[in-house]
Amino acid sequence: MKLVVLGSGSYSGTPKPFCNCENCSRARTNPALRRTRFSLYFEKTLVDPSPDLHYHLERLNRKVERVFITHAHFDHIAGFPELQVFGELDVYSHGQGVETAKHLASLFLGGASPDNRVWRYHEIPFNEWVELDGMRVFHFRTVHRSIENSGGFVSELKGKRIAVTGDTGPEILDDNEAIKAMEGADLLIAEMTHRESIPRTHLGVKDAIELAKKVGAGYTVFAHISHSNYTHEVLEKRVREAGVIGEVARDFTWIEV
Ligand SMILES: [Zn+2]
Ligand SMILES: [Zn+2]
Ligand SMILES: [Zn+2]
Repeated sequence: MKLVVLGSGSYSGTPKPFCNCENCSRARTNPALRRTRFSLYFEKTLVDPSPDLHYHLERLNRKVERVFITHAHFDHIAGFPELQVFGELDVYSHGQGVETAKHLASLFLGGASPDNRVWRYHEIPFNEWVELDGMRVFHFRTVHRSIENSGGFVSELKGKRIAVTGDTGPEILDDNEAIKAMEGADLLIAEMTHRESIPRTHLGVKDAIELAKKVGAGYTVFAHISHSNYTHEVLEKRVREAGVIGEVARDFTWIEV
């Protein structure tokens, strides 16, 4: 199975306008170092319609039939109306994610299911395995800043298990239910936003690596990386030195599991 990290960055992207940090300065002259906002695609499934979704879709040039939304923060959902190019969609999230997606579609496209399209919304409970068409999914809750509901997803399809942390504070390291669902996954996509963890907000480098070790996935890809984090090569070195089998995502990093 092939997956692609469409966007590897966090809420402000890299370069962040008017920022002259090392990552932002370098990204202005080297496109390979740019980071658009986080999004993942596999098997006609999109995880998080980021504000950069138009850019992602026109490059990806593949069909989306299923959308998972980890949480209703701007950088993970604002591109939702860009999905108007698709006639049939199934959207999955907790209540707040579903309601925000419906609101964006109503505001910009004239209805939760716009004209001539069949868009279905499915509110899924936290911490329960749910059977979808051709897939099983477990939406675990994460502790994440000001937002009431936020979570990650573990998907099982075609004999593979794919885990995506979504945005999460370091509290996830002590969340046995989430760890159990992710444990031994074929692929873990873990957020690694900042240099240091921010309690109840985001993972730092050390805790993201510790999470990867706890989960013990066949392969781990770190993403949702802030412009203020270490440089790409320093992050790669940290991952390598920690003995984690995996890599640090760039935009449009393809993974085969
Ligand atoms: Zn985010
Ligand atoms: Zn910067
Ligand atoms: Zn967030």
